[in-house]
Amino acid sequence: MFSGAATTNVSLRNDLTWTFGGKQQRGWYLYDLLIGKTLNTTHDPTTSDFAAALASWQRRSRTTADGILDQDTLMALVSQWQGNRLKDRSYATPDQLLTAPPSDFYDPSRADEMRQVERDTYAAYKRMIAAAISDPALKLAHTSSDQLAPAEKYFKIVSAFRSREYQENLRRKSPNAGSAGLAVNNSPHFTGRALDLYVGGSPVDTKDSNRAIQVNTPAYRWLVQNAERFGFRPYFYEPWHWEFVK
Ligand SMILES: [Zn+2]
Repeated sequence: MFSGAATTNVSLRNDLTWTFGGKQQRGWYLYDLLIGKTLNTTHDPTTSDFAAALASWQRRSRTTADGILDQDTLMALVSQWQGNRLKDRSYATPDQLLTAPPSDFYDPSRADEMRQVERDTYAAYKRMIAAAISDPALKLAHTSSDQLAPAEKYFKIVSAFRSREYQENLRRKSPNAGSAGLAVNNSPHFTGRALDLYVGGSPVDTKDSNRAIQVNTPAYRWLVQNAERFGFRPYFYEPWHWEFVK
C-alpha cells in the first residue's frame, strides 16, 4: 500500500530541498535516526514499512497521511524536535555552575573558566556516562572508577557553559555561521545546560560530510536511543549538541 510512498522517499531522502537557519539544505538522510526514534520505528527509511509508520505519525500530527516525507512533514518533525528543547535560556548565575575536572573534556588543557557546567546537568551527564561505559557494545576505554579513560574521546565534553564574551568572540571568528550556527542573544550555552559532546569526526563542524560521519558512530546512535532517559534532548542539526531539560 505504501510502496509508491517508499519510492518517493528514496529520492526525497537525498534530494529534498529545504531551508534551515537561512541556509539551503539537501535531503533528510542525516536525520534518519532521529526520525526513526520520533516515529518509533526501526524500519529502514527506504521501505514501505517506514512509510506506513510515517503515515500513522502524520495522522497524529495532522499533516497529510500519505507516508511521504516531503517538506511539510519534515518541517513538522523539525518543529516537534525544536519544541522539545530547553525553553528557559536564562544566563547561569555563578552559584549554578561548577568547574568540571579536565579529564571530562575533549581538550583537557581548557582553562578553568571554560570547564563550567550547570550542577544538575553535570550530575546527569555523569550518570549518562556511567551507563554508556557499562554498555559493552560501545567498548569505551575507562578507568577502574568508571570514568572515561584519558585516551577515550567519545562522550567527552567539547564545550559546556559559554559566557557572553566568549560567545561573541566565537561569532566574530566565524561571521558566516548564520543563525544555524552560533546564537548571539540567547545561546543555550549561556545556561550551562547545553553540552557539546564528542560524537566523532570534526567535533563541531556542521558540514554535511562531517555530520554524515557523526550520525553513524555508535556514540551518536547510543545518545539518540538513551540520552532522553537522563534528561537530555538533541538539537537535530548538531549531532554533538545536547540540552539538559530535566
Ligand atoms: Zn552546542
